[in-house]
Amino acid sequence: MSKFWNDKIKEIEPYVPGEQPKDKKYIKLNTNENPYPPSAKVIEKIKSMNLEDLKLYPDPDVTELGKVIAEYFSNKINNKITYKQVFIGNGSDEILAFIFMTFFNAGDKVYYPDITYSFYPVYADLFNVKEIKIPLNDNFEIEIEKYFGLDGHIIITNPNAPTSIALKLEEIEKIAEKNPSQLVVVDEAYVDFGAESAVKLVNKYDNVLVVQTFSKSRSFAGMRLGYAIGSENTIEGLNRLKFSFNSYTIDRISIEAGIESFKDDEYFEKTNAKIIQTREKTSEELKKLGFKVLNSSANFIFISHNKIFAGDLYKQLKENGVLVRYFAKDRIDNYLRVTIGTDEEIGIFIEKLEDLLGNNV
Ligand code: PMP
Repeated sequence: MSKFWNDKIKEIEPYVPGEQPKDKKYIKLNTNENPYPPSAKVIEKIKSMNLEDLKLYPDPDVTELGKVIAEYFSNKINNKITYKQVFIGNGSDEILAFIFMTFFNAGDKVYYPDITYSFYPVYADLFNVKEIKIPLNDNFEIEIEKYFGLDGHIIITNPNAPTSIALKLEEIEKIAEKNPSQLVVVDEAYVDFGAESAVKLVNKYDNVLVVQTFSKSRSFAGMRLGYAIGSENTIEGLNRLKFSFNSYTIDRISIEAGIESFKDDEYFEKTNAKIIQTREKTSEELKKLGFKVLNSSANFIFISHNKIFAGDLYKQLKENGVLVRYFAKDRIDNYLRVTIGTDEEIGIFIEKLEDLLGNNV
């Protein structure tokens, strides 16, 4: 007899995350984590928490953290964002999944670039949403005119991943303006490394929903915290969805750590500036070694070399203890995505490259 649930299992095409190797210690430049630890104030806060309180459920509305985030952005954009415009989730992947579940019905269309974050096709498949991929141009750039007047939801990653190239805020605004009846999700996982956030648009365009994460610029990949900012109405939709299946998504430790992170702006600004500085220096050094380096506004760079195939370089770097990201996919199969690490880590990466190029060319 056929066992239907077994057929169902094979229909699910899960996302394959970047390697988190357990065999040995690598210089890990493959999953866009921050090379610097969370702020000392965050670590201090966690250590000083009354952990006996963990016996109690956390605040299901995550109000305190929501208010801190709302105040931070109100000050930043000089326009009032209320905590009712902030939704908090366990990392932005969870929020993206919630967005699909809340707003995208089976059979709807969703548009995104042909090269972008590879989680979106997974959600589209899972929720039976029809994905329509809009090609990037020959320079791997998003051409905004192709996103005007669409008949489906839109997701733009800004800066885009893995290309690292950012759109200007005016360009995101044009897309929102030209699609007033469509939800425009702006995934800003990497925005703090040199792009301008679309949070500035949410009070003007009720179709703009911005998603950000603590995982990259706030060094929290191990804590799982992200947020979305949009109109009160859109955020209410996400809350309704969340309360429909798990009211307590954010644990007490993450809430406290998140609040503390937003209070330590100085550390946030300092570490981001340092990563940008290392990125610029790295890009220059790689160009001297003959690499093509796309113009990055993220905490990673996307590179290729015409003398050595990226797939081989990936393997050789790994054998030499340096892990970078390789996507064996059309159009980008001769590129590597390299996370910006500390100066020391990048120094070793470049040394290894020099050796390998010397042996290969
Ligand atoms: N969006 C993009 C574009 C990403 O690259 C990532 C990280 N892989 C995420 C969202 C998810 O990040 P997190 O769930 O850690 O917030």
